[in-house]
Amino acid sequence: MTEDDWGHIRETLEETVGKNNYLTWIEPLDYLGSGDGVAQFQVKTTFMGDWVSRNFGDEIKRECFKAGHHVDRLDFVVESSKRATKTPATPKTQATAPAKKPMKAGPELPGAPLDKRFTFDRFVVGKPNELAHAASRRVAEGGPVTFNPLFLYGGVGLGKTHLMHAIAWELQERSPGLRVVYLSAEQFMYRFIQALRDKQMMDFKELFRSVDVLMVDDVQFIAGKDSTQDEFFHTFNALVDQGKQVIISADRAPGEIDGLEDRIKSRLQWGLVVDLHPTDYELRLGILQQKVENYRAQYQELQISDGVLEFLAHRISNNVRVLEGALTRLFAFASLVGREITLDMAQESLADILRQSDRKVTMDQIMRKTCDYYNVRMSDLLSPKRSRNIARPRQMAMWLSKTLTQRSYPEIGKRFGNRDHTTVIHAVRKIDELKAQDSQIAEDAELLRRMLEA
Ligand code: ADP
Ligand code: MG
Repeated sequence: MTEDDWGHIRETLEETVGKNNYLTWIEPLDYLGSGDGVAQFQVKTTFMGDWVSRNFGDEIKRECFKAGHHVDRLDFVVESSKRATKTPATPKTQATAPAKKPMKAGPELPGAPLDKRFTFDRFVVGKPNELAHAASRRVAEGGPVTFNPLFLYGGVGLGKTHLMHAIAWELQERSPGLRVVYLSAEQFMYRFIQALRDKQMMDFKELFRSVDVLMVDDVQFIAGKDSTQDEFFHTFNALVDQGKQVIISADRAPGEIDGLEDRIKSRLQWGLVVDLHPTDYELRLGILQQKVENYRAQYQELQISDGVLEFLAHRISNNVRVLEGALTRLFAFASLVGREITLDMAQESLADILRQSDRKVTMDQIMRKTCDYYNVRMSDLLSPKRSRNIARPRQMAMWLSKTLTQRSYPEIGKRFGNRDHTTVIHAVRKIDELKAQDSQIAEDAELLRRMLEA
């Protein structure tokens, strides 16, 4: 594969991975050459090589293949040391277990590989997930089965898969012989269909009934798929009857999964059902801090100005995956520019993510919440009245509008009974000042912000 060939492949990659990913990750790759199915690239840091290989390795290989080049491994050489990274080019889902913790108890176990980063050590606990975490810890201790199944549910990117893998790692470490199987409901279905097609149903049943701990992720996937549900139900019952631990996750509570048979819904609620709530500011900040520490420990020193992580925790959505994506972009950016990441740099390099996850609190919501909170009428808030008991809530609502929305000063003024933008600027300043001096005002602001963001 010549440099020109790579040039063409790179262009097609811009479409497959999207412009931002392309600019951050693909374009900076320096193609060195290829042979024997290995394509070699030079990268600025080990981190970049790891990241590209984990997230775009498959796409790169696929595009090379489509262009008629046989590449089955990517090799990343770090610029300074000119030494190949030790991480093999494997996609994220194929992440393999560290050698000291082999994740097998028989060669034919039907499970999916576990992500080695998804351990309890790396799971940050906060109010929104403390119950789910405690229940997972309990199950991971092994011993007599106390609740069966453990049913974890919650929105996308809140840590369900992470907790399940963490349980599997821990169980495996405590009792290496235990047959722990983790797979997604989708994988369960494919295996089932395959067994039907190959007339291997007896083997399939035997295999799944012989495990000690079964974890099925994203079980909402089998809703409406009748024969798969049926088989899942039988497997589930057989295991629970034998006192084997079953752990299930879904994006909703069992009762809310449309297309799931009633008998399954009710069976799933026999054990312990716990939900992961949307993350709050403190949890997001904790996660960011932990990821920065991990990055420093694993890759290199990293300078981030005060306030950058707080800003991200404040502005980026509930979904931890989005938060991680933003941070990873910052890491790449930092390793390219080689100096401290300031708030301005963060804002600029993450503009698209910030825009997308703008939490879309509306001014209307802000005004209504503020009226409720201070017990004033909306008409007063919009009126010219200037008595303190109305002016203060009005200033607070303006401050919230400026802090939580993208509206400009003139736009805000207009909504508040056609006031001038200088009035809004004054109100924002006033509240900022008062927050520093008056703990009651600071508390009001914080409470209102939280209610609006919840
Ligand atoms: P889900 O399965 O609920 O969609 P995941 O478990 O895949 O979410 O989590 C998405 C990403 O966010 C993963 O990389 C995971 O490690 C990370 N993550 C989620 N919650 C936490 C947490 N509490 N602490 C650290 N990382 C977290
Ligand atoms: Mg998941």
